[in-house]
Amino acid sequence: MKVLDRLAACFERLPGVGRKSAERFAYHVLAMPLKDVEDFADGLLAARRDLRACGVCGCFDEADPCAVCSDESRDRSLLCVVDRSGAAALIERTGGYRGLYHVLGGHLHSLPRTGRPQPRVKALLARAEKDPPREIVLALPPSAEGEATAAMLARMLKPLGLRVTRLGVGLPAGSELEYADEVTLARAIEGRTGL
Ligand SMILES: [Zn+2]
Repeated sequence: MKVLDRLAACFERLPGVGRKSAERFAYHVLAMPLKDVEDFADGLLAARRDLRACGVCGCFDEADPCAVCSDESRDRSLLCVVDRSGAAALIERTGGYRGLYHVLGGHLHSLPRTGRPQPRVKALLARAEKDPPREIVLALPPSAEGEATAAMLARMLKPLGLRVTRLGVGLPAGSELEYADEVTLARAIEGRTGL
């Protein structure tokens, strides 16, 4: 059973997966066709090996700078701040945003509490000062951590004379952007409000 335990332990490292679910996934893998399991393993390895964080925005991509940062047709006067690369991908899928991104990364809850701007926040300030965007959209999760981080960023960015907005209402409170469907998210981008 050692092999199965090892597989379950691997699944258990994923966010939101407890011991029971991990074991269920492990048994599910045993029932899968070998070809599917090979695809699964290849997918994991390829993603981890071939994707890296863009040196400009922090989004994961095969190229650095990423496809968005190097796309000259994007609106460079709009900068959208997200907590992680996956949130930028969600916003991309709505098709309603044509600006650039900045990924904060890390754990949002530690940002406002320590009061010390972490490297990705410093990078955001440096970016905004070097090439001031017309608008900075804070697209952070509608959770307590997201709200606190948005308030902290607004306090840092507004003295630079920048227009800071946040996503409009309609997003489910206290959750991650992932829980919003594309239509709601597109509406929230459309209906962003000033901070
Ligand atoms: Zn980029």
